Amino acid sequence: MKIIVIGCTHAGTFVVKQILKEHPDAQVTIYERNDNISFLSCGIALYLDGKVKDPKGLFYSSPAELAELGANVKMLHGVKSIDTKNKTIEVEDLRDNDFFTDHYDKLVMTTGSSPVLPAIPGRDNKNVYFCKNWHDAQILFKEAQKNRRIAVVGGGYIGAELAEAFSNHGHETTLINSDKRILSKYFDEKITDKIADLYREHDVKLELGKRVKRFAGDNELTLTLDDKNIKADMAILCVGFRPNSELLEGKVDMMDNGAIITNEYMQSSDPDIFAAGDSAAVHFNPSDTNEYIPLATNAIRQGILVGKNILKPTVKYMGTQSSSGLQLYDYSIVSTGMTVEMAKKKGIEAHSVVVKDNYRPEFMPSTEEVWMQLVYSPVDRRILGGALMSKYDISQSANTLSAMIQNRNTIDDLAMIDMLFQPNFDRPFNYLNILGQAAQAKEE
Ligand SMILES: Cc1cc2nc3c(=O)[nH]c(=O)nc-3n(C[C@H](O)[C@H](O)[C@H](O)COP(=O)(O)OP(=O)(O)OC[C@H]3O[C@@H](n4cnc5c(N)ncnc54)[C@H](O)[C@@H]3O)c2cc1C
Repeated sequence: MKIIVIGCTHAGTFVVKQILKEHPDAQVTIYERNDNISFLSCGIALYLDGKVKDPKGLFYSSPAELAELGANVKMLHGVKSIDTKNKTIEVEDLRDNDFFTDHYDKLVMTTGSSPVLPAIPGRDNKNVYFCKNWHDAQILFKEAQKNRRIAVVGGGYIGAELAEAFSNHGHETTLINSDKRILSKYFDEKITDKIADLYREHDVKLELGKRVKRFAGDNELTLTLDDKNIKADMAILCVGFRPNSELLEGKVDMMDNGAIITNEYMQSSDPDIFAAGDSAAVHFNPSDTNEYIPLATNAIRQGILVGKNILKPTVKYMGTQSSSGLQLYDYSIVSTGMTVEMAKKKGIEAHSVVVKDNYRPEFMPSTEEVWMQLVYSPVDRRILGGALMSKYDISQSANTLSAMIQNRNTIDDLAMIDMLFQPNFDRPFNYLNILGQAAQAKEE
């Protein structure tokens, strides 16, 4: 059985390890066009912020480790085309531009994603950068040290983290976002307003509800927005990701954006081709729909499933709530499932409550405010989403809500579910219970 894995960052690494664990005799060949594997991009902002001192710690595997496990590892090899009828691929050895053909019995597409390149004139300006991989991280680290004024374009979680990191280091930072709200995919207004205030308190200039129309200039960059020009020394474009799936265009089923659609065993519509990670769609449980949600959490889980299902359908994919979190300044900000705005766009009726409470009793030496939002269906009272923001570490509460959404629990379950009480940690009712009770009160 010859298995070819194209692309080896997170999904690919997990695929290969799982296949070789379950089938040590499988013949696995990896083609990776980059010179490294398993780089944790989530560490880029931490590295720029100085919180991660040694970026070598951001790799958790290596070509040598996978070779040791028995894989044939071909680094700096790009796959150029796939012939699904004859089960062959054309490969370029990027070191000497030599082309050759290889064949497979099973093919795994773990080709991931690339930054979206918006059609903005001047996008190729030498002072405009991207933030995706280890190569980008090194360039950004070097350039940020030389430049004072930095414009971050895109207010998703990558832009949000970069803007925070630069502002922490005295850069004159501007965050530009076409939506009026930062992180609007993950949070509703109450929380995004608080996030915007946080940036303003830390002297980040916000240009919200505005698009960049042009980049121009040699040493000094001019960004033309809808209503004004702003000057910067460098800009970073973080306006989203698109799946690297062109190799299979027209050959397997895909979403409109090119994400490969799989069944619950991670098989594409061609049963000998599997996909996992940023190249693939996910099943979003709150709405029971296929979505494109490029996260490492999804990549590693889907990667393991490819390994388990490569020879025969064995373990089903559970889907995702798209849980995610970030730390901005002193705040932990986490979310899972749907926002009200997302539910509206999908035509799903949703109600929500927002509650502010201290996480533990006031008689303790200190406590912190927790802002919480719960999104739920008024029809069957099922929990659809939730978000929390606090100086206290509430990150695991998003995971609790995620498990409850996965299990199709209701606001009534959340109101009364058993949670520990001890004044060091919470009140007799944990703050999540209180959130569920607020939703019940609203529906009475
Ligand atoms: C700055 C940043 C921060 C992030 N933070 C988080 C976070 O906190 N939490 C989280 O869950 N996720 C986070 N993510 C998302 C996460 O990094 C991605 O979801 C994850 O990298 C997806 O892994 P993947 O293996 O599917 O794809 P990728 O990481 O995109 O890797 C795909 C690999 O395939 C290779 N490849 C592509 N085409 C070919 C070809 N034709 N031939 C050979 N090789 C090819 C590429 O070189 C690459 O190595 C972050 C992403 C970024 C950019």
